[in-house]
Amino acid sequence: MRRLLHALTALALMLAALPEASHASSLPPLPDESLLTDSVWAREGFASLAYAFANRTRYLIALNVDHRRGVLSGKARVLYVNNDGVPHEEILFRLYPNHPFRRGRRMQIVALSVNGVPSAGQLRDASGTVFAVPLAAPIPPGGALTIEFDYTITVPAGSTFFYVSEPLPMVAVYDQTGWRQEVATKGLDYAYTETALYAVRVRAPSDYGTWFVGALKGAENHGDSTTTYTIVTGPVRNFVLVQVRGWRALSATGAAVPINVLYNGDPVGAQEIAEISAAAFNYFDRVFSPYPYAELSVIATRFPSGGEEYPTLIFVNNDRTSAYRRFITAHEVAHQWFYGLAGNDTLRHAWLDESLAQIAGYLLYKYSGYGGGNAAEEYWSHILTWYNRITTVRPINTALEDFRDFNDYMSTVYGGGAVFLRQLGEQIGDGALIAGLSAYVRQVNLGIGTPRMFFEAVQAQTAQDLRPIFCAQVGIMC
Ligand SMILES: [Zn+2]
Repeated sequence: MRRLLHALTALALMLAALPEASHASSLPPLPDESLLTDSVWAREGFASLAYAFANRTRYLIALNVDHRRGVLSGKARVLYVNNDGVPHEEILFRLYPNHPFRRGRRMQIVALSVNGVPSAGQLRDASGTVFAVPLAAPIPPGGALTIEFDYTITVPAGSTFFYVSEPLPMVAVYDQTGWRQEVATKGLDYAYTETALYAVRVRAPSDYGTWFVGALKGAENHGDSTTTYTIVTGPVRNFVLVQVRGWRALSATGAAVPINVLYNGDPVGAQEIAEISAAAFNYFDRVFSPYPYAELSVIATRFPSGGEEYPTLIFVNNDRTSAYRRFITAHEVAHQWFYGLAGNDTLRHAWLDESLAQIAGYLLYKYSGYGGGNAAEEYWSHILTWYNRITTVRPINTALEDFRDFNDYMSTVYGGGAVFLRQLGEQIGDGALIAGLSAYVRQVNLGIGTPRMFFEAVQAQTAQDLRPIFCAQVGIMC
């Protein structure tokens, strides 16, 4: 231990003296591009899904986590492909660690090159989440570029638990309204991202648990008590890196893919979350669409907002009652389908993942038999908590920006949207609703779903004309 401390002290002095050199020397090498389509990420039979993304924008990332200094150093090689149908004179990136919700974080671009030529970018918003990369010549539709970033992100020094969402510059979504640059602060979610392939190398202290989106291709231990993890994600719309020390893990039994639960605190609660995760996973996997990834990670800890979803990885609050665990775990697992597989514009049509995740949990308890006879109504009481807070009745398909505040948004999207979907199930039959949800997931298939796609997926299951009810309550098809 003492030798380790000496070594760490010497290393720290070196780092302090040579910031530029240290950035390069502590980083693992970037993963090879061929890893992007390595099959390790996939559940058996699904590896070919990655090939559809092999000629789109994709990311090679190297990260080093320095807990002592509280710095995450990174290199990102972005293999950018212009699939937007129009030429671009600049490419916009989002630096999400600078979002106002991530207080105390700071992401800084240290160096930038475009096709190997050093360049300089420009921040476009006050909080530093929009970063414009100018191009020497416009890139035509179908054109490709390699953009490389060296960057740092500040993280809590010496912490035994933190996670960094989107720990890389991510290409902003470009749609019919242009580059998406909003800094969303009225809800919980603020990142709007598209599915891409990632290969990531993370070097971190060996005594920390390193968890992430994707699957582990390999791990290499170094003499300095650090380990380099090589990670392949397959097609996912986000990445997150989790660091913990001194936590425990357990495996859920009976799930169709391995589900690993990482937890601190109450082991009984963690076991319960593992059981709920397995039951929810198996039900959604069966009725909505098969989950294509090799495994699912569940991080159970005190999580004040309730939970958070990433592809192949969710956070769940383990700090409350069993009834609450049944609610929040089902909701977060459902996001693997409504967000992960069936993505959507999370800022303008948030109900497409949040209201749908809410109703998925209700259907789970009503039809899977898990949780006992009263489980569905017990689950529903958590929906009503939000529903009963509605003070202004709005169309469910209201953009985040157009809500008055957090309560207005949450009560409509988490409460009103779910109540609408339950009524829809009562009107057309839950079987038709479930078939519609399944058709929607399969049709979106890792892309960006729209309100109209969801309407059409459900309408196809019934002879009733659903336009009046969607117009009246959702505000579409009018
Ligand atoms: Zn949610």
